[in-house]
Amino acid sequence: MSFADLGLIPELLQAVTDAGYNEPTPIQRQAIPIVIAGHDVMGGAQTGTGKTAGFTLPLLHRIARHANTSTSPARHQTRALILAPTRELAMQVYESVKTYSKHLPLRSVCVYGGVDIRPQQAELRRGIEVVIATPGRLLDHIEQKSINLSQVEVLVLDEADRMLDMGFIPDIKRILSLLPAQRQSLLFSATFSDEIKKLADQMLKNPQLIEVARRNMVSETITHVVHPVSSGMKRNLLAHLLRHKPDTQALVFVDTKLVCGRLAHYLERAGISADAIHGDKGQQQRTETLEAFKSGKLRVLVATDVAARGIDIDELPFVINFELPHTAEDYVHRIGRTGRAGHHGYAISLVSSEEKHWLAEIEKLIKFQIPQEIVPGFDPDPDFHEAGSRGQRGRRSAAGTRPDDEAARTPASSRTPDKRRDGDRERGRDDTRQQARRGRSTVAADGFDFSKPYEPASGVNTGVSDAAPALTPSPQTDPLRRPKRPIAVLLGGLGKK
Ligand code: AMP
Repeated sequence: MSFADLGLIPELLQAVTDAGYNEPTPIQRQAIPIVIAGHDVMGGAQTGTGKTAGFTLPLLHRIARHANTSTSPARHQTRALILAPTRELAMQVYESVKTYSKHLPLRSVCVYGGVDIRPQQAELRRGIEVVIATPGRLLDHIEQKSINLSQVEVLVLDEADRMLDMGFIPDIKRILSLLPAQRQSLLFSATFSDEIKKLADQMLKNPQLIEVARRNMVSETITHVVHPVSSGMKRNLLAHLLRHKPDTQALVFVDTKLVCGRLAHYLERAGISADAIHGDKGQQQRTETLEAFKSGKLRVLVATDVAARGIDIDELPFVINFELPHTAEDYVHRIGRTGRAGHHGYAISLVSSEEKHWLAEIEKLIKFQIPQEIVPGFDPDPDFHEAGSRGQRGRRSAAGTRPDDEAARTPASSRTPDKRRDGDRERGRDDTRQQARRGRSTVAADGFDFSKPYEPASGVNTGVSDAAPALTPSPQTDPLRRPKRPIAVLLGGLGKK
């Protein structure tokens, strides 16, 4: 199927050709005709699936009739509003809108907090058809009357689950109450908790469901590896891995702002060009850091989950979880930064024994066990393999995966996560909330279960693939301690014959 088959107007088809896209992705094939037909949409999809073009192209198609070259603000009413949880994601969507609307005289703007509001006001007063906004800043503009939403025809709520996590739902509800009742609404979310479904009920009318989340929960172009390591040796291991691939860029995820800054500092001192991006950094600084990373000037970007939303680099080869996320869905979000647009990527996780229960949660969600590789000299604490240790219980495990590991059979909900010590968790979620979330139903009104674990159609890449073939094990290797598969991908283990 081609983009032309989807019924898009020639100006948009030209923009798609200019962007170099040959054919629509699955979510685009599903979403574009539905949105063009004017239906509301409830879409389960992460970034990396082509979701942004999936809603932006048909949205532009629908409002293209308003395109005009007049200089009068009255001729450029706001027709589409796209809400995104973070500045970075909003900017990302804005870039897409600009890319796809380049052959149409439609105006767009991106408004977000943390920067001077006045230039945004001046821009809005010129008259803008497509406004991409973070919720808080949009409310500022509404209060200051710099935006008029009375002519909005299409509303998009992107990454609704992230909005919920960041506490934006009250803001969203206020914004909804200020929009015309007669409008088309699209809601995208990677997961559908009860709260999201409640919001969807308020916001959407007879929505069509788009199910791409399940199929693309984990891209098949990503190779996953876990390096068991003691928590005290993690930074050394990270530096070690990065030194072995001097030309490679990597996005490194941590859980807290504190660790974020410190780790970037440590890498810098170790001679590895690195910087940190997290919520406490000013917008200017975040933009500069992101630009340096995107342009390749910066080799390693250390980021928290919130700050990393919307980072879109097509050929980013490595995502490294310095710390595992405490919500399994965040693993999917994080690794969605690599393996994009058909490129191959590696998702590497440094896992200490304290984090094994999080690993079990992730493996339950993605429905396969991630191969484990101990990097020589960076062993985990002895209890990593101990029977009865948190998360994965059972017989002493080799570093590799074992299908009969009791962890694979023990329902994750029956395993109790322990409290972590860190006090500055950026996402503000605690174990209790997470437990509560797990207990909630994620089945949509029509019986569709958005949280159903991913079932790969053609097999997920679990570390052994054509793209990343295994190394022959070393003769000195103890088969009980070492898996049959190779060592660290960053050390050249995978990917070499
Ligand atoms: P998204 O899921 O919207 O964040 O998009 C992920 C990446 O895929 C972006 O870099 C897009 O430019 C790219 N992309 C979107 N649609 C297509 C397509 N049909 N073919 C190839 N790449 C695409």
